[in-house]
Amino acid sequence: RAKKLRGNNSKFYSYNQGEGSIDPLELEMELGKAIDQDQLFLHYQPKINLNTGKIVGVEALIRWEHPEWGLIPPGTFIPIAEETGLIIPIGEWALNVACKQNKIWQERGFKTVVSVNLSAIQFNQPNLIDTIEAVLQKTGLEPHFLEVEITESMTADIESTILMLQHLKKIGVRISIDDFGTGFSSLSYLKYFPVDTLKIDQSFVRKLHNNPNDETIIKAIISMAHNLNLKVVAEGIETKEQLVFLQHHLCDEGQGFFLSKPLLANDLEQKRSRIEQIVEDNGIPGDLNQ
Ligand code: C2E
Ligand code: MG
Ligand code: MG
Ligand code: MG
Repeated sequence: RAKKLRGNNSKFYSYNQGEGSIDPLELEMELGKAIDQDQLFLHYQPKINLNTGKIVGVEALIRWEHPEWGLIPPGTFIPIAEETGLIIPIGEWALNVACKQNKIWQERGFKTVVSVNLSAIQFNQPNLIDTIEAVLQKTGLEPHFLEVEITESMTADIESTILMLQHLKKIGVRISIDDFGTGFSSLSYLKYFPVDTLKIDQSFVRKLHNNPNDETIIKAIISMAHNLNLKVVAEGIETKEQLVFLQHHLCDEGQGFFLSKPLLANDLEQKRSRIEQIVEDNGIPGDLNQ
């Protein structure tokens, strides 16, 4: 894991603060060294069952801590990794670390599913299946404890998307569609996609109590998903009101800063029981989903 550099280091400046703009070419060169120099690490954000309050999954979110530039958000470096092809080794690194961590959790009795985000370039690699199988083999993680998150706009070609999803299903990993509602996927194809879960994009959740249209969209996504026998996860829950609304409308799982920020593996383990108390303390009591 990257060394802790945040804090009192006066030379250290944050990429986000924009002091000294970084040349994209330099960023690209540095990114090329990030794996070997141990600058990448993963945060894990829990997914909570909104009925029981328990942690039922964790999403791995990549972080890059550059020794001079500080923490660079994935929204900044993932697009560069995609343009340069570095997403292939970086994506494989993330898969491997996430599976290794989850194997450790399994052995300690924390039976959780780890979700790893895939970029379109990874998804369209013919050897993606081989890569995933090799990682599962190497780490000893059972396939159903791994989930991949893909987005709606992974490929223009529906046929090859369905084929790849079928291959993934066959090796036993779970599949979820991330940022659902923001892409351009044709709803009519959804029933042909062998996926397990839809994740409602956080933009709908964020505006819930300001925009009645977003309430309608969320209710529609939940009922459509359930009719297709899919699980629904809401992303970006930041308030108690959003939590209660989603519980009331029988959303299965939730993720968001109100429940937990993305955390280092050890911190997540330490805070586990506190996190699992939040729904009980703030949500609708009882077993709505029964
Ligand atoms: P995503 O997969 O949709 O992940 C959710 C993002 O929302 C994460 O941002 C997370 O930290 C943030 N988030 C979670 N809860 C809340 C909340 O309550 N409020 C707000 N405002 N934000 C919340 P992050 O970690 O910056 O990641 C951004 C995106 O970068 C991810 O979106 C994903 O598309 C991509 N990404 C992250 N890790 C990887 C990776 O290993 N591989 C690939 N290909 N992409 C990754
Ligand atoms: Mg995701
Ligand atoms: Mg998302
Ligand atoms: Mg996103």
